[in-house]
Amino acid sequence: MKPHILVVEDEPPLVEVLRYNLENEGYRVSVAIDGTEALTQIQTELPDLVILDWMLPQLSGIEVCRQIRTDPDSKDTPVIMLTARGEEADRVKGLVSGADDYVVKPFSPTELLARVRAVLRRSTSSSPDETLMHGDLVMDLAAHLVTRGGRPVHLGPTEFRLLRVFLKRPGRVFSREQLLDLAWGRDIYLEPRTVDVHIRRLRKALNATDDEDVIRTVRGAGYALGMGMA
Ligand code: CA
Repeated sequence: MKPHILVVEDEPPLVEVLRYNLENEGYRVSVAIDGTEALTQIQTELPDLVILDWMLPQLSGIEVCRQIRTDPDSKDTPVIMLTARGEEADRVKGLVSGADDYVVKPFSPTELLARVRAVLRRSTSSSPDETLMHGDLVMDLAAHLVTRGGRPVHLGPTEFRLLRVFLKRPGRVFSREQLLDLAWGRDIYLEPRTVDVHIRRLRKALNATDDEDVIRTVRGAGYALGMGMA
């Protein structure tokens, strides 16, 4: 699936340059034009990387970055900060300990793309041997194996991706639209009820007769990983 990059920038021409170059590289791009909108999008869309301008209306880039780092859902999301040449550049190093990298304006698209690749590589290279766990559920990402209470669970590729979304944020409620975006990708158009079909399969595979249901249905909102949280 294409990595999803959120561009937070209030200057339309720069937004277009960034979008053009990032999409050309095969990334999926969404845009926020101020800090508040950025935080909303980060909450709902959980991008793989945020390119964040320092000077923004409402909340500054620094404040947005601080909030990204305080939210458990986004604390590991890589951030590349954009800053104007001059006084800010040095301060960025000191102040923005939360950012993974920064790029000084004006920058060449080549330079920015190199930073994006490097930051994404760092953030994903820690995950191949990653194991996700919740309750008696274990997902071995490298081996592509799932067990529940030591018993192997056989999942189709879609159910595997759905479960991975849940295990990355246990307890969080996902709407059907969010699950479509995160487990299928945004370029695919599917009916939200498709999610229900796959949730049913996932439940069937995960829950042996006496097991507590792994997936919690949240009426009017969506689904969450919900063992022991009812
Ligand atoms: Ca700006």
